[in-house]
Amino acid sequence: MATATTSSPVERPVTPGGSFLIAEAAPADCFFPEDFTEEHRQIAQTASDFATNEVLPASDAIEAKDFSVTRRLIKEAAELGLTAVDIPEEYGGLEMGKIISAIIADNIAKQGSFSVAFSAHTGIGTLPIVWYGTEEQKQKYLPKLADGTWVGAYALSESTSGSDALNARTRAVLSEDGSTYTLNGEKMWISNGGFADLYTIFARCAVKEGKDAGKERLTAFLVERGTPGFTVGKEEHKLGIRGSSTCPLILADCKIPAANLLGEVGKGHHIAFNILNVGRFKLGIAAIGAARLSLGHSLGYARERKAFGKSIAEFGLIQEKLANAATRIFAGEALCYRTVGMMDAALAGVDKHDTAAIQRAIEDYAVECSICKVWCSEALDYVVDEGVQIYGGYGYVEEYPAERAYRDARINRIFEGTNEINRLIITGWLLKSAMSGKLALMPAIKALMDEVMAGPSAPADETESPLAGARNVLAQARKLTLFAAGVASQRYMQQLADQQEIMGALADCIQEVYALESAVLRAEKILSRTPGRAGGEPVAVAMARLYAEQGMERIELAVRAVLAASAEGDALRTQFTILRRLAKHEPVDTIGLRRQIAAHLLRVGRYAL
Ligand SMILES: Cc1cc2nc3c(=O)[nH]c(=O)nc-3n(C[C@H](O)[C@H](O)[C@H](O)COP(=O)(O)OP(=O)(O)OC[C@H]3O[C@@H](n4cnc5c(N)ncnc54)[C@H](O)[C@@H]3O)c2cc1C
Repeated sequence: MATATTSSPVERPVTPGGSFLIAEAAPADCFFPEDFTEEHRQIAQTASDFATNEVLPASDAIEAKDFSVTRRLIKEAAELGLTAVDIPEEYGGLEMGKIISAIIADNIAKQGSFSVAFSAHTGIGTLPIVWYGTEEQKQKYLPKLADGTWVGAYALSESTSGSDALNARTRAVLSEDGSTYTLNGEKMWISNGGFADLYTIFARCAVKEGKDAGKERLTAFLVERGTPGFTVGKEEHKLGIRGSSTCPLILADCKIPAANLLGEVGKGHHIAFNILNVGRFKLGIAAIGAARLSLGHSLGYARERKAFGKSIAEFGLIQEKLANAATRIFAGEALCYRTVGMMDAALAGVDKHDTAAIQRAIEDYAVECSICKVWCSEALDYVVDEGVQIYGGYGYVEEYPAERAYRDARINRIFEGTNEINRLIITGWLLKSAMSGKLALMPAIKALMDEVMAGPSAPADETESPLAGARNVLAQARKLTLFAAGVASQRYMQQLADQQEIMGALADCIQEVYALESAVLRAEKILSRTPGRAGGEPVAVAMARLYAEQGMERIELAVRAVLAASAEGDALRTQFTILRRLAKHEPVDTIGLRRQIAAHLLRVGRYAL
């Protein structure tokens, strides 16, 4: 795989970010794993084989923090071309696009600690230079990062500022002659900190001109290991991903050449947040990769383990867990690959040397990227938690894989922006886009309000399709979300952002609409490509129907909370009547669907559609 791609750019229409909330999409416009090309499948196989044959056997050494093993594996991954996908060709990269980046993150995520080291290196450790580096910085550093000779790290957090990253205390001062910056301060929780060669470090620095002149603003710098005044503190002892390196960095009169300023003084927040934003879709799909592995273990164990004279896989309550896990994986794959498909389609029309245009194109999918992060990290936690339960007592001991999977999963809700911060981003970004007129959310809310006032409307889909019910639930889910957003915006206006619980509940509705729609569209695509259906409907249909019920349940709960916090008395009663009307749909036998999904999983022996 170590050559640049020759495949043609993705030919799909450009879908504006956030539009899933106001407009229906067609299966043909969305990218799902069923659209993988031969090249995609080969890369998935390469990454998966590497993780299975090289990384997993080295697990004990990795978990014992033998970082020489992690470095060797990063180098080997580089030889396969797996570390160079986001780096331009002229600097030793392969420049293969976001879909391939996601495929690698998905398939390499079989060993949590290595997966974090790998993605810290290829993502937050390398991308700041790809996007903001000067020509000299790119030439000096990118080839070494691409071929794994050097490992990268990204240092934003401090002991007193994690989510509140702009409040960093580390300072950088430019020398009188303008030749060096002196950095002082301490960074905390830095992935790859213990063994990286190059660190993107954020510090406050005095801005010389412009509207912020005289003020100290966040600025990014490149610091090489071995620079005098730069030391790495002790490794943290963590709940999970114990084999990844997480260290504080100490900067004591650390002098670096002025040429190591990354981007502009005072513009570090752009670098910090843009890099985290793009990392989120990768975290999401890596979480789904880990969930798939965990479900595979649970399935294998459930088939082997006997209780009451049967295999525990025969018990309905175990089947329920297996089916729920597989359904979340199905929806997670759908929403992550749909997101990267949209990003690649948007990037196909952008000049690859125009970094600002590339960033704008990516930023347009900020909501979808945050959904990938939040939804998939929570789906993974569900899968690994039920994994421990399926293993029973053996799930609680180190010898079995469920225990480590459970511990390793938990970090995903904390780093790359906590799930709370990402929930605020999801709703905040959509409201901002609505206010600026970028997204026609307000007209959609108005049309919906007019429709609900006019009384009940007919179901959207009255066809005989096995997915017609799920499609109708999707239409209702969208309406309910717009309804709740409309009521809350009318009640709180500009102060809505201060109502965090409502912002969070709206984010839950928004992400469920995206997950639900992605699952349904993916199932429709699969259904349309299944000839004859002699063997019955594809299992994807049952998964999409089950997810429609589960997503709707969450939306209904969240909408109830939003309405009750936004109105009272008769107004609230009227709103609850509308809520009941919008949520009303044909009953679905979710137990039957779960049994059908579990029977399929047990027949195939792994997660496969
Ligand atoms: C294993 C590991 C690896 C890491 N790797 C890196 C790395 O490579 N580089 C790096 O720079 N950082 C890294 N981090 C740091 C990580 O990004 C932060 O821990 C994270 O951003 C949260 O910051 P915090 O720990 O200061 O928590 P806080 O920001 O103090 O948050 C504590 C709680 O309060 C909530 N909260 C905070 N602000 C708000 C708000 N405005 N509204 C609502 N709730 C809020 C949070 O969601 C959280 O639940 C890593 C951390 C860990 C544990």
